[in-house]
Amino acid sequence: MLIYIDGEFLPPAEAKVSVFDHGLLYGDGVFEGIRSYNGRVFKLDEHLERLYDSAKSIMLQIPMPIATLKETVLETLRRNHLREAYIRLIVTRGVGDLGLDPDKCPSPSIIIIADKITLYPQKFYEEGLAIVTTSIRRNYPEAINPRIKSLNYLNNILAKIEGKQAGAVEVLMLNADGYVAECSGDNIFWVKKELLVTPPGHIGILEGVTRNSVIELARQAGMRIEERVFTRHELYIADECFLTGTAAEVIPVVKIDKRVIGDGCPGAVTQKLIAAFRHLANNTGTPIYA
Ligand code: PMP
Repeated sequence: MLIYIDGEFLPPAEAKVSVFDHGLLYGDGVFEGIRSYNGRVFKLDEHLERLYDSAKSIMLQIPMPIATLKETVLETLRRNHLREAYIRLIVTRGVGDLGLDPDKCPSPSIIIIADKITLYPQKFYEEGLAIVTTSIRRNYPEAINPRIKSLNYLNNILAKIEGKQAGAVEVLMLNADGYVAECSGDNIFWVKKELLVTPPGHIGILEGVTRNSVIELARQAGMRIEERVFTRHELYIADECFLTGTAAEVIPVVKIDKRVIGDGCPGAVTQKLIAAFRHLANNTGTPIYA
Protein backbone atom coordinates (compact mmCIF):
# COMPACT_ATOMS: atom_id res chain seq x y z
CA MET A 1 0.00 0.00 0.00
CA LEU A 2 1.19 3.52 -0.82
CA ILE A 3 0.04 6.48 1.23
CA TYR A 4 0.19 10.03 -0.04
CA ILE A 5 1.72 12.43 2.44
CA ASP A 6 2.82 15.96 1.56
CA GLY A 7 3.97 15.31 -1.98
CA GLU A 8 5.28 11.75 -1.57
CA PHE A 9 3.82 8.26 -1.94
CA LEU A 10 5.18 6.14 0.92
CA PRO A 11 4.66 2.62 2.30
CA PRO A 12 2.62 2.58 5.57
CA ALA A 13 5.67 2.15 7.84
CA GLU A 14 7.24 5.29 6.40
CA ALA A 15 4.11 7.46 6.21
CA LYS A 16 4.43 9.32 9.52
CA VAL A 17 3.36 12.56 11.13
CA SER A 18 5.23 14.55 13.77
CA VAL A 19 4.28 14.36 17.45
CA PHE A 20 4.06 18.16 17.21
CA ASP A 21 1.36 18.05 14.53
CA HIS A 22 -1.68 19.88 15.91
CA GLY A 23 -3.89 17.29 14.25
CA LEU A 24 -2.52 14.85 16.82
CA LEU A 25 -2.10 17.27 19.73
CA TYR A 26 -5.52 18.94 19.43
CA GLY A 27 -7.60 17.25 16.74
CA ASP A 28 -6.97 20.44 14.76
CA GLY A 29 -7.70 19.54 11.16
CA VAL A 30 -10.40 18.31 8.79
CA PHE A 31 -11.10 15.11 6.88
CA GLU A 32 -13.31 13.23 4.44
CA GLY A 33 -14.30 9.59 4.00
CA ILE A 34 -14.91 8.86 0.32
CA ARG A 35 -15.70 5.72 -1.68
CA SER A 36 -15.01 4.45 -5.13
CA TYR A 37 -17.23 1.93 -6.87
CA ASN A 38 -16.42 0.07 -10.01
CA GLY A 39 -13.42 2.28 -10.91
CA ARG A 40 -15.19 5.58 -10.23
CA VAL A 41 -15.04 7.88 -7.22
CA PHE A 42 -18.53 8.61 -5.94
CA LYS A 43 -19.41 12.31 -5.45
CA LEU A 44 -15.74 13.33 -5.36
CA ASP A 45 -16.50 17.01 -6.06
CA GLU A 46 -19.07 17.13 -3.24
CA HIS A 47 -16.60 15.60 -0.76
CA LEU A 48 -13.83 18.00 -1.84
CA GLU A 49 -16.19 20.94 -1.54
CA ARG A 50 -17.14 19.90 2.01
CA LEU A 51 -13.44 19.48 2.89
CA TYR A 52 -12.58 22.98 1.68
CA ASP A 53 -15.67 24.40 3.43
CA SER A 54 -14.71 22.69 6.71
CA ALA A 55 -11.14 24.03 6.34
CA LYS A 56 -12.37 27.55 5.60
CA SER A 57 -14.59 27.52 8.66
CA ILE A 58 -11.64 26.67 10.95
CA MET A 59 -9.32 29.10 9.08
CA LEU A 60 -7.12 26.32 7.72
CA GLN A 61 -5.64 27.06 4.31
CA ILE A 62 -5.36 23.79 2.36
CA PRO A 63 -1.98 24.14 0.62
CA MET A 64 -3.21 22.88 -2.76
CA PRO A 65 -5.88 24.00 -5.23
CA ILE A 66 -9.00 21.82 -5.25
CA ALA A 67 -8.32 20.56 -8.82
CA THR A 68 -4.81 19.40 -7.85
CA LEU A 69 -6.11 17.66 -4.73
CA LYS A 70 -8.75 15.92 -6.85
CA GLU A 71 -6.05 14.64 -9.21
CA THR A 72 -3.90 13.56 -6.22
CA VAL A 73 -6.79 11.49 -4.82
CA LEU A 74 -7.16 9.76 -8.20
CA GLU A 75 -3.39 9.22 -8.47
CA THR A 76 -3.35 7.61 -4.98
CA LEU A 77 -6.01 5.16 -6.16
CA ARG A 78 -4.05 4.43 -9.35
CA ARG A 79 -0.80 3.82 -7.44
CA ASN A 80 -2.67 1.29 -5.31
CA HIS A 81 -4.45 -0.32 -8.31
CA LEU A 82 -7.82 0.15 -6.61
CA ARG A 83 -11.29 0.16 -8.13
CA GLU A 84 -13.47 -0.48 -5.05
CA ALA A 85 -11.96 1.59 -2.27
CA TYR A 86 -12.43 3.59 0.88
CA ILE A 87 -10.44 6.83 0.74
CA ARG A 88 -9.50 8.81 3.83
CA LEU A 89 -8.46 12.35 3.00
CA ILE A 90 -6.96 14.30 5.92
CA VAL A 91 -5.66 17.85 6.27
CA THR A 92 -3.99 18.61 9.59
CA ARG A 93 -2.97 22.03 10.89
CA GLY A 94 0.63 20.79 10.66
CA VAL A 95 3.64 21.01 12.95
CA GLY A 96 3.62 23.71 15.64
CA ASP A 97 4.69 23.97 19.26
CA LEU A 98 2.90 22.70 22.38
CA GLY A 99 0.65 25.78 22.51
CA LEU A 100 -2.79 26.01 20.91
CA ASP A 101 -1.88 28.85 18.53
CA PRO A 102 -2.55 27.67 14.96
CA ASP A 103 -0.42 30.54 13.63
CA LYS A 104 2.59 28.59 14.91
CA CYS A 105 1.83 25.90 12.30
CA PRO A 106 3.06 27.28 8.96
CA SER A 107 2.51 24.17 6.80
CA PRO A 108 -0.68 22.10 6.96
CA SER A 109 -0.20 18.43 6.03
CA ILE A 110 -2.22 16.57 3.43
CA ILE A 111 -2.59 12.80 3.81
CA ILE A 112 -4.49 10.40 1.54
CA ILE A 113 -5.00 6.76 2.53
CA ALA A 114 -6.75 4.54 -0.01
CA ASP A 115 -7.64 1.07 1.18
CA LYS A 116 -9.89 -1.82 0.26
CA ILE A 117 -13.40 -1.26 1.53
CA THR A 118 -14.71 -3.22 4.51
CA LEU A 119 -18.42 -3.68 4.02
CA TYR A 120 -21.02 -4.05 6.75
CA PRO A 121 -22.46 -7.56 7.03
CA GLN A 122 -25.24 -8.19 4.49
CA LYS A 123 -27.45 -9.26 7.43
CA PHE A 124 -27.71 -5.58 8.53
CA TYR A 125 -29.34 -4.67 5.21
CA GLU A 126 -31.69 -7.65 5.20
CA GLU A 127 -32.76 -7.55 8.84
CA GLY A 128 -32.18 -3.90 9.79
CA LEU A 129 -30.39 -2.41 12.80
CA ALA A 130 -31.51 -1.96 16.39
CA ILE A 131 -30.22 1.38 17.68
CA VAL A 132 -30.40 3.17 21.03
CA THR A 133 -30.25 6.81 22.11
CA THR A 134 -27.04 7.89 23.81
CA SER A 135 -26.88 10.34 26.72
CA ILE A 136 -24.10 12.16 24.83
CA ARG A 137 -25.60 15.15 23.03
CA ARG A 138 -24.40 16.19 19.58
CA ASN A 139 -22.08 19.19 19.78
CA TYR A 140 -23.77 22.52 20.18
CA PRO A 141 -23.25 24.39 16.85
CA GLU A 142 -21.76 27.35 18.72
CA ALA A 143 -19.14 24.99 20.23
CA ILE A 144 -17.69 22.63 17.61
CA ASN A 145 -20.16 22.97 14.76
CA PRO A 146 -21.14 19.45 13.60
CA ARG A 147 -21.25 20.82 10.05
CA ILE A 148 -17.44 20.95 10.17
CA LYS A 149 -16.00 17.50 9.52
CA SER A 150 -13.11 18.08 11.90
CA LEU A 151 -10.52 15.68 13.27
CA ASN A 152 -12.02 16.26 16.70
CA TYR A 153 -14.45 13.34 16.84
CA LEU A 154 -14.48 12.77 20.59
CA ASN A 155 -18.16 13.70 20.83
CA ASN A 156 -19.04 10.89 18.41
CA ILE A 157 -16.57 8.46 19.99
CA LEU A 158 -18.13 8.96 23.44
CA ALA A 159 -21.52 8.26 21.89
CA LYS A 160 -20.16 5.15 20.15
CA ILE A 161 -18.70 3.83 23.44
CA GLU A 162 -22.08 4.17 25.13
CA GLY A 163 -23.81 2.47 22.20
CA LYS A 164 -21.37 -0.43 22.25
CA GLN A 165 -21.94 -0.89 25.97
CA ALA A 166 -25.65 -1.25 25.17
CA GLY A 167 -24.85 -3.73 22.39
CA ALA A 168 -25.84 -1.40 19.54
CA VAL A 169 -23.86 -0.96 16.29
CA GLU A 170 -25.00 2.65 15.89
CA VAL A 171 -26.37 5.21 18.35
CA LEU A 172 -28.90 7.99 18.05
CA MET A 173 -27.71 11.43 19.13
CA LEU A 174 -30.01 14.29 20.11
CA ASN A 175 -28.98 17.92 19.98
CA ALA A 176 -28.75 20.12 23.10
CA ASP A 177 -32.49 20.93 22.81
CA GLY A 178 -33.47 17.26 22.72
CA TYR A 179 -34.33 17.09 19.02
CA VAL A 180 -33.10 14.18 16.92
CA ALA A 181 -29.81 15.15 15.23
CA GLU A 182 -28.07 12.14 13.69
CA CYS A 183 -26.11 9.01 14.61
CA SER A 184 -22.42 8.79 15.58
CA GLY A 185 -21.36 8.38 11.94
CA ASP A 186 -24.58 8.40 9.90
CA ASN A 187 -27.55 10.64 9.11
CA ILE A 188 -31.11 9.56 9.93
CA PHE A 189 -34.41 9.54 7.98
CA TRP A 190 -37.91 8.31 8.77
CA VAL A 191 -40.88 7.56 6.58
CA LYS A 192 -44.59 7.84 7.37
CA LYS A 193 -47.37 7.53 4.80
CA GLU A 194 -45.17 8.35 1.76
CA LEU A 195 -43.55 11.33 3.55
CA LEU A 196 -39.77 11.26 4.08
CA VAL A 197 -38.33 13.36 6.94
CA THR A 198 -34.74 14.15 7.97
CA PRO A 199 -33.31 16.80 10.32
CA PRO A 200 -32.16 20.10 8.78
CA GLY A 201 -28.49 21.17 8.77
CA HIS A 202 -29.01 24.05 11.20
CA ILE A 203 -29.93 21.87 14.19
CA GLY A 204 -26.36 20.61 14.34
CA ILE A 205 -25.58 17.68 12.04
CA LEU A 206 -22.97 16.79 9.49
CA GLU A 207 -24.77 17.23 6.18
CA GLY A 208 -23.86 13.90 4.65
CA VAL A 209 -23.04 13.50 0.99
CA THR A 210 -25.08 10.26 1.09
CA ARG A 211 -27.95 12.13 2.81
CA ASN A 212 -28.01 14.70 0.03
CA SER A 213 -27.93 12.00 -2.66
CA VAL A 214 -30.85 10.18 -1.01
CA ILE A 215 -32.87 13.41 -0.80
CA GLU A 216 -32.26 13.91 -4.51
CA LEU A 217 -33.21 10.31 -5.36
CA ALA A 218 -36.39 10.57 -3.29
CA ARG A 219 -37.35 13.83 -5.06
CA GLN A 220 -36.73 12.19 -8.44
CA ALA A 221 -39.00 9.33 -7.38
CA GLY A 222 -41.73 11.90 -6.68
CA MET A 223 -41.69 11.47 -2.90
CA ARG A 224 -42.62 14.26 -0.53
CA ILE A 225 -39.60 15.16 1.57
CA GLU A 226 -39.25 17.49 4.55
CA GLU A 227 -36.11 18.70 6.31
CA ARG A 228 -37.45 19.64 9.72
CA VAL A 229 -36.88 19.26 13.44
CA PHE A 230 -38.54 16.35 15.25
CA THR A 231 -38.38 14.47 18.52
CA ARG A 232 -37.89 10.77 19.18
CA HIS A 233 -41.66 10.34 19.51
CA GLU A 234 -42.05 10.80 15.74
CA LEU A 235 -39.28 8.28 15.12
CA TYR A 236 -40.88 5.72 17.42
CA ILE A 237 -44.20 5.92 15.56
CA ALA A 238 -42.72 6.05 12.04
CA ASP A 239 -43.51 3.39 9.43
CA GLU A 240 -39.84 3.10 8.44
CA CYS A 241 -36.46 4.42 9.47
CA PHE A 242 -33.03 4.25 7.84
CA LEU A 243 -29.52 5.68 8.16
CA THR A 244 -27.21 7.01 5.46
CA GLY A 245 -23.43 7.35 5.26
CA THR A 246 -20.50 6.76 2.94
CA ALA A 247 -19.57 3.43 4.56
CA ALA A 248 -23.11 2.25 5.37
CA GLU A 249 -24.81 3.62 2.18
CA VAL A 250 -28.53 3.26 3.06
CA ILE A 251 -29.17 0.92 5.99
CA PRO A 252 -32.57 0.07 7.54
CA VAL A 253 -33.35 0.59 11.24
CA VAL A 254 -36.04 -1.66 12.70
CA LYS A 255 -35.78 -0.95 16.41
CA ILE A 256 -35.09 2.28 18.35
CA ASP A 257 -34.80 2.26 22.15
CA LYS A 258 -36.57 -1.13 22.14
CA ARG A 259 -39.56 0.22 20.15
CA VAL A 260 -40.23 -1.79 17.01
CA ILE A 261 -40.39 0.52 13.96
CA GLY A 262 -43.29 -0.24 11.63
CA ASP A 263 -43.66 -3.99 11.26
CA GLY A 264 -40.08 -4.64 12.38
CA CYS A 265 -38.76 -5.36 8.87
CA PRO A 266 -36.95 -3.07 6.40
CA GLY A 267 -39.76 -1.14 4.69
CA ALA A 268 -40.67 -0.76 1.01
CA VAL A 269 -39.49 2.87 0.71
CA THR A 270 -36.18 2.01 2.39
CA GLN A 271 -35.64 -0.94 0.06
CA LYS A 272 -36.45 1.18 -2.97
CA LEU A 273 -33.94 3.83 -1.85
CA ILE A 274 -31.26 1.19 -1.13
CA ALA A 275 -31.62 -0.05 -4.71
CA ALA A 276 -31.71 3.46 -6.20
CA PHE A 277 -28.63 4.50 -4.22
CA ARG A 278 -26.67 1.41 -5.26
CA HIS A 279 -27.56 2.02 -8.88
CA LEU A 280 -26.39 5.65 -8.63
CA ALA A 281 -23.16 4.71 -6.84
CA ASN A 282 -22.30 1.98 -9.34
CA ASN A 283 -23.05 4.06 -12.41
CA THR A 284 -21.79 7.58 -11.70
CA GLY A 285 -18.62 9.22 -10.40
CA THR A 286 -15.18 10.43 -11.45
CA PRO A 287 -13.30 7.76 -13.46
CA ILE A 288 -10.01 6.72 -11.82
CA TYR A 289 -8.50 5.16 -14.95
CA ALA A 290 -9.69 7.54 -17.68
N1 PMP B 1 -22.77 12.15 10.31
C1 PMP B 1 -21.54 12.01 10.84
C2 PMP B 1 -21.28 12.46 12.22
C3 PMP B 1 -20.52 11.40 10.07
O1 PMP B 1 -19.30 11.24 10.58
C4 PMP B 1 -20.82 10.97 8.76
C5 PMP B 1 -19.75 10.36 7.90
N2 PMP B 1 -19.27 9.15 8.41
C6 PMP B 1 -22.13 11.13 8.28
C7 PMP B 1 -23.07 11.76 9.08
C8 PMP B 1 -22.50 10.70 6.88
O2 PMP B 1 -21.88 11.54 5.94
P1 PMP B 1 -21.52 11.04 4.48
O3 PMP B 1 -22.77 10.57 3.86
O4 PMP B 1 -20.96 12.25 3.80
O5 PMP B 1 -20.51 9.96 4.64
